[in-house]
Amino acid sequence: MDHVLNIADNYIFTPYVYPTSWPEDGALRQIISLWVMTNLGAVLIYLSFGTLSFYYVFDHKLMVHPLFIRNQIRKEIQLAAVSIFWMSFPTVAFFFWEIQGNSKLYDNISKSSLGWPGVFLSIAGFLFFTDMCIYWIHRSMHHKNIYKHLHKQHHIFKIPTPFASHAFHPVDGFLQSLPYHVYPFIFPLHKAVYLSLFVFVNIWTISIHDGDYRIPGPLICLINGAAHHVDHHLFFNYNYGQYFTLWDRLGGSYRYPSALLGKGPHDHIRKLMAEAAHTQ
Ligand SMILES: [Zn+2]
Ligand SMILES: [Zn+2]
Repeated sequence: MDHVLNIADNYIFTPYVYPTSWPEDGALRQIISLWVMTNLGAVLIYLSFGTLSFYYVFDHKLMVHPLFIRNQIRKEIQLAAVSIFWMSFPTVAFFFWEIQGNSKLYDNISKSSLGWPGVFLSIAGFLFFTDMCIYWIHRSMHHKNIYKHLHKQHHIFKIPTPFASHAFHPVDGFLQSLPYHVYPFIFPLHKAVYLSLFVFVNIWTISIHDGDYRIPGPLICLINGAAHHVDHHLFFNYNYGQYFTLWDRLGGSYRYPSALLGKGPHDHIRKLMAEAAHTQ
């Protein structure tokens, strides 16, 4: 985040926002700047990619499903907005700790002992580590003593739209984002890769809520897509994973997507319409 902060300081904060008497390396100034950038960045990614996905990927026919609730999109966006706001406080604590130089982030390939192969290895490591951690965090969110207090808010939406992607109780949302923040404090990671992965995971989260249940055949058993995740929203104790089906398989919670068996939300709508046409 130090590069992003430097760019924001150079072009916006120093010339237009802060008084010249407030130095760029002042801790309070850095925390305020990080907080503003975190909120703006998260809202921008959520609304822009969420809106694009809603209009160009999400099948609007799903909105007539009987489990699609009244004013659902407004409720999803409201919950996400509140969540992003509260989540930004602990998130900024991580970013601040990171810009103080406490992480293993590096900005020059020559600083990686493995060079370019190390960069690709770190991408694989990041995806593996965060997928594993999110699986167990998400699964523990379904424990009966925790679920009703935190995670239930995300499961109000049985037929989610892309806007449900960030609609969590703030504590739930932060706990599920924790692996992303922890990773660069444990493992080396290139700064540009970290930023790219940060944007990627947000887009991925939107994509598993986008109602596009198609997935290339060979990937069905490997990748946790929207078809897998809608079954999580509908049947709760299956498909807790984020990118891969690996931990669901190891943890005994894998469910082959019902949308790919002709028993998904679209099939249910078609059945209801056929029944309605038949009774007319
Ligand atoms: Zn869940
Ligand atoms: Zn979800």
